[in-house]
Amino acid sequence: MSRESIRTVSKLQAANREERIFERPTDGRGNYLPVTEYFGENIFHFSESSSIPTQIKNELESVIQSGKGLKKEHAEIVAKAVTEWAIEKGATHFCHWFQPLTGATAEKHDAFLDFDRAGKPIEKLSASQLVQGEPDASSFPNGGSRATFEARGYTAWDLTSPMFLIEGASGKTLCIPTAFVSYHGEALDVKTPLLRSVSKLSEQATKFLNLSGFPNTKSVNVTCGAEQEYFLVDKAFYFARPDLVMAGRALFGAPAVKNQQLEDHYFGAIPERVLCFMEELDYELHRLGIPAKTRHNEVAPGQFEIAQIFRDANVAADQNQLVMATIKNVANRHNFVALLHEKPFAGVNGSGKHLNWSMASDEGLNLLEPGDEIHSNMRFLAVTSIIVEAVKRHAKVLRASIASAGNDHRLGANEAPPSIISVYLGDAIGKIFDAIKDGKATSSESKVMLDLGARQLAMLPKDNTDRNRTSPFAFTGNKFEFRAVGSAMAIGLPMSILNGAVSDIFEESNKILETELAAGKTIDAALMEICKKWISSSHQVIFNGDGYSDEWVQEANRRGLPNLKTTADCLHIINDTKETNFLTRQEIFRASELETRYHVLTERYNTIRLIELHTFIDMIHKFIIPSCLEYKKELGSVIKEQKNLGFQSNVETDLYKEINLSLESLYENARNLKNMINELPEDIDERAKKIAHELMPVCFAMAEYCNQIECLMPEGLWELPSFFDMLYLR
Ligand code: ADP
Ligand code: MG
Repeated sequence: MSRESIRTVSKLQAANREERIFERPTDGRGNYLPVTEYFGENIFHFSESSSIPTQIKNELESVIQSGKGLKKEHAEIVAKAVTEWAIEKGATHFCHWFQPLTGATAEKHDAFLDFDRAGKPIEKLSASQLVQGEPDASSFPNGGSRATFEARGYTAWDLTSPMFLIEGASGKTLCIPTAFVSYHGEALDVKTPLLRSVSKLSEQATKFLNLSGFPNTKSVNVTCGAEQEYFLVDKAFYFARPDLVMAGRALFGAPAVKNQQLEDHYFGAIPERVLCFMEELDYELHRLGIPAKTRHNEVAPGQFEIAQIFRDANVAADQNQLVMATIKNVANRHNFVALLHEKPFAGVNGSGKHLNWSMASDEGLNLLEPGDEIHSNMRFLAVTSIIVEAVKRHAKVLRASIASAGNDHRLGANEAPPSIISVYLGDAIGKIFDAIKDGKATSSESKVMLDLGARQLAMLPKDNTDRNRTSPFAFTGNKFEFRAVGSAMAIGLPMSILNGAVSDIFEESNKILETELAAGKTIDAALMEICKKWISSSHQVIFNGDGYSDEWVQEANRRGLPNLKTTADCLHIINDTKETNFLTRQEIFRASELETRYHVLTERYNTIRLIELHTFIDMIHKFIIPSCLEYKKELGSVIKEQKNLGFQSNVETDLYKEINLSLESLYENARNLKNMINELPEDIDERAKKIAHELMPVCFAMAEYCNQIECLMPEGLWELPSFFDMLYLR
């Protein structure tokens, strides 16, 4: 195959794909089944199984509530019920499914096949197989904690997250969501600290509610709805771009002439082939009991979004992993590749994962729902002030919790929430907060102020059109939206940190409440004290303006807010006991677990960057230099020919010079980069900093030269799919 034809063939393939129509089940009379008929058909939760007696269900519920040990005979009943259910659905295998620190999920399959005493083959899942597994922990990232590290690790069944079936081409596997811990009980996964953080926050928030007029509240759940953004590119282009395959992002590429300037893609009509994909995606998610709700085009061409109805944090975190996996799977069936990377294409918007977050009591109260009378208002304002203080005080750890190589291309770039952590509250709450800060809310006009506030706040959920898209942490009516989370990451880590930060401030607030109430203050007056305290200490973190502007960077600096630009600048925070004390004190993380995460994340950053850099150098040699030489040869012979003919023309010589100049600079930079890679220090932190501050700028410069060359090159000599191809042809 000649060099230019790989791209040509890809273009032909992409432009001529047929839509894949999947067979949606019908009622036999040609009508599609309503979603409610198949929603959740691929999940098993003990609480909904008809073959488990109510009394056992209650026992299991109380195990969840109290955290006490699960009885073997109860586990046996569940194991039997789920085995029957799974076998009937055609499953042959089961696995413990967990989230190790790779950022992805892991599963090791075992067959149900066993033999009974008489040697007859049977299908079986024992109670102990359900409850505990023993994958070899040494093959998962443990961040160099090998000294104290036991090869043995345990997976332990998480009763709160439903089991589910994954379907292969001709078989099904029952997945049992589990936590993954070391022999010494150290969390080796994302789920364990998340569960701890949820119960810590529940404890403190429940106490807060009990003290502030809700004596019957027994627990508070963290609620979470994740909006997932992604790109779709045709499979043919994907495999013709080694950088997409190796690094998940195009390391270089000249922007198409039209990108998103016309803003015509966002919420525009969904292209037919993509809609077919989305229909199948929703169908699969619904069968998995995942309440996929909205789907639409995103800002960049080729970019889309899916959002679920919110639910409790732990299940939402598991389900977001399943959503990412299902997006990839279903995309593949439609000859697309889904790119979950935070910035697959420079110059157009990157992908985030808005983490919508709130708290709900067992009595059904959303703690971030503003009320329409003074009391519920005071409770709402106090909770909001607690969250603002939490974000202000623990901004650095929150920043570190969303750090990754991919996210570095979004945060601080001109089109995503900046790496300065600030809070957007909007005008109405902003005004009330100002009044409280300036002491006006407790003056003689206080009642008017709060009354007025009450009416304004009641309107909030309905009227939040002025929402600020540039804030990394925004109040949006009845929830906060942590927008700085990256599209490819597991949401469990940032959510654990957020929960821990908020429960930390709840704990302090509860002490204040107790003191104030004991001194005879009314609940409202005591809540006002909390508001005053937190608003005066944290008002600097509130910013309602344009988070993308340069002025904000200056202003934030003046306010003393941290601006940790790259992953390399902030991961060490995770290992800084002064910063993370609130997590260890509340037993959400052990110190050793944080150290592990610091090592794992730093090593991952370094590895990802080195893969990118090596891929880049490789592509220069395999694609760019040969294309340039070819073009130079063509130009050279034209120049020579013209000389022979005695013709005078500058075009060829100019092009020759320009190509030559860019190529020389590119080559020079690539050679420098190779040397810099060879001289990288051993220490992982120094290594990360060097990569971020010295190697990446060279990488960006190289991309610039590649783009110059691409722009000069004739279509037929440029073999790599262009941004135009990848973003527009489908
Ligand atoms: P938006 O326009 O703000 O993106 P949506 O109402 O579509 O608005 O909400 C986006 C996401 O927020 C959805 O995933 C939704 O389930 C989630 N969400 C809504 N209310 C809550 C809540 N109380 N707690 C957590 N997430 C929530
Ligand atoms: Mg949103």
